[in-house]
Amino acid sequence: MQIHFIPAAQLKPKPESDFGFGKIFTDYMFEMDYDEQLGWHDAQIRPYGPLKLDPASLVLHYAQETFEGLKAYRTEDGRILLFRPEMNARRLIQSNQRLCMPEIPEALFLECLEALLRVERDWVPIAPSSLYIRPFVFATEAAVGVHPSSKYKFMILLSPVGAYYADGLNPVRIYVEDEYIRATPGGTGAVKCGGNYAASIIAQAQAARCGFSQVLWLDGKERKYVEEVGTMNVMFKIKGQLITAPLDGTILPGITRDSILHLMREHGLSVKERPLTIDELMDAGRTGQLEEAFGTGTAAVISPIGQLHYKGETIRIHNEKIGPLTQWLYDTLTGIQWGRIPDSYGWTHEIV
Ligand SMILES: *Cc1c(COP(=O)(O)O)cnc(C)c1O
Repeated sequence: MQIHFIPAAQLKPKPESDFGFGKIFTDYMFEMDYDEQLGWHDAQIRPYGPLKLDPASLVLHYAQETFEGLKAYRTEDGRILLFRPEMNARRLIQSNQRLCMPEIPEALFLECLEALLRVERDWVPIAPSSLYIRPFVFATEAAVGVHPSSKYKFMILLSPVGAYYADGLNPVRIYVEDEYIRATPGGTGAVKCGGNYAASIIAQAQAARCGFSQVLWLDGKERKYVEEVGTMNVMFKIKGQLITAPLDGTILPGITRDSILHLMREHGLSVKERPLTIDELMDAGRTGQLEEAFGTGTAAVISPIGQLHYKGETIRIHNEKIGPLTQWLYDTLTGIQWGRIPDSYGWTHEIV
């Protein structure tokens, strides 16, 4: 693919630190168009800035949009590493298939991403900061009337980010949501699309008003099984075994989740993908058998859970301190991501 480069008249000053999360963007962005005649075409890297978009663009009315999230890490010796980017490429293909959108082949996805990162490599900050990468695809055909769009845009934005939580690995308070749901069988729970989030903001906002940092989602059918926490997969250590929900179509197949399952099995540690009811979880909490709990996702990597609040009852986990397994998984995973620990899994992908 020929990628046209349009230079910026002026580059932005690069902030040294205090990035926050997802508020600062780099000098350039990637953009590529799709239509039925030409397929994916007109790939370009151009200065970051506003889009010109027809107000009838289908995405604005019917939310035909998918996205991905990954990070670039700078090693101590200055190399730039991605973490399992082919998994993001494959997941985007799955997401696009579900939303009737054209696929971006894995090799093309990686080619576009690498080209943008080669231009912007100086923007990758040093640890514990990193460069968050946001690829996304959306429908641009101008029409008011529900149907699969005939035109799309694929874009990639880059944003230097600090540690996800300002206060580091401090355990968070979680509200178990028993009114709203995020996914039902046959829906789009396993797909990374903006529409899922639009419907979930209300629960997150209500929980935030009561001092909780995320909600724990129960299944949409019976409000009985524990599914995900906010924008993360969720894992619980009960009586020595790490438990997480199976990928049954309502759970987002997280790459962090998959990596943790690999690490656990590789080290002979007990782990199980199985349905877990909220009653079993609360019971384990009451009797002291719930030893650790944490959310997993690219943004925070691992976010320990200190409190669960369900129907007026509060469970405290590991004295609201990070547990040893959670800490080990965090150190191991971030160690591989930043190239501090040898990568024996072939997970890291260097940008050269
Ligand atoms: C992106 C996402 C995750 C985490 O996936 P990773 O690949 O680990 O970043 C989990 N749940 C939801 C709903 C997500 O959108």
